[in-house]
Amino acid sequence: MAGPAFDQREGSIWYNGEYVDWKDAKLHVLSHGLHYGSLVFEGVRAYGGKIFKLEEHTERLFRSADALGFKLPYTRDELNQVQLDILKKEGLQDAYLRPCAWRGSETMGVAAQSNSINMVVAAWDWPSYFSPEERLKGLKLAIAEWRRPDPRTIPCKAKAAGLYMICTLSKHKAENDGYTDAVMLDHEGYVAEATAANIFFVKDGVLHTPRPDSFLDGITRQTVIQLAKRRGLEVLERKILPEEMADFEECFLTGTAAEVTPVASIDKYNFKPAEITTRLMHDYMDEVMPKAVAAE
Ligand code: PMP
Repeated sequence: MAGPAFDQREGSIWYNGEYVDWKDAKLHVLSHGLHYGSLVFEGVRAYGGKIFKLEEHTERLFRSADALGFKLPYTRDELNQVQLDILKKEGLQDAYLRPCAWRGSETMGVAAQSNSINMVVAAWDWPSYFSPEERLKGLKLAIAEWRRPDPRTIPCKAKAAGLYMICTLSKHKAENDGYTDAVMLDHEGYVAEATAANIFFVKDGVLHTPRPDSFLDGITRQTVIQLAKRRGLEVLERKILPEEMADFEECFLTGTAAEVTPVASIDKYNFKPAEITTRLMHDYMDEVMPKAVAAE
């Protein structure tokens, strides 16, 4: 298993403007964020001591809070600085950072307009286990029974706790059935994404990826599209029917945690991680790694 439980680690967590001991970073059991899902968060990664796309992640956190109708009590610059500081303070190089904001405990009921907004930033060691050979075997994915919700039913572009309930249900079901993860369809039955990552397919040298109209347009997804275009590859963002998966040759997931991860199968559809997936895996790792500063 992956080390001590997440409430039992050493170090400090930035909590409402100050650093507290990791084990003391608690919230009250009667918190709106916990009961009513009024919580937004980010998943950010640092490589070699440098945070990848920090500003983009912070911007998304602000958009998520806005979508849930609350205002973060810090500025973008302050939150960026906290993340840079906590890495240094904790002596981390390759790390995962988790900024998070939620409505507090002043009232307990659906309405909580005057509740305080609480914030934490935690960071922990997360080495990049990049072993292309191992990864090229590819993931075995199921198709989830739960679908991404209709954008008219939930603020689907927010990275908010409530959106993950069906992801956890889908991932647990997939794991219990012998898969690593699940691909979710959207409310109309088109391929959408995995439970915490976007998805790409390859056919005849062209990339196909679902248009993110009812789910997160991941920062990694956007990066990979740029990298692919830089390589001269065509990228089609479009509606993809599950049956089309029969004709795709390669498939991979993208996400801050997943990076670029090849997929070997989705339910009855098989793929062969090959040239384009491998190239983009390498291009992505080159992109996230801090560049050495040229000697004067
Ligand atoms: N979709 C979902 C549901 C996710 O949780 C994530 C991970 N944040 C992604 C897509 C990929 O987003 P990103 O590339 O910004 O990490």
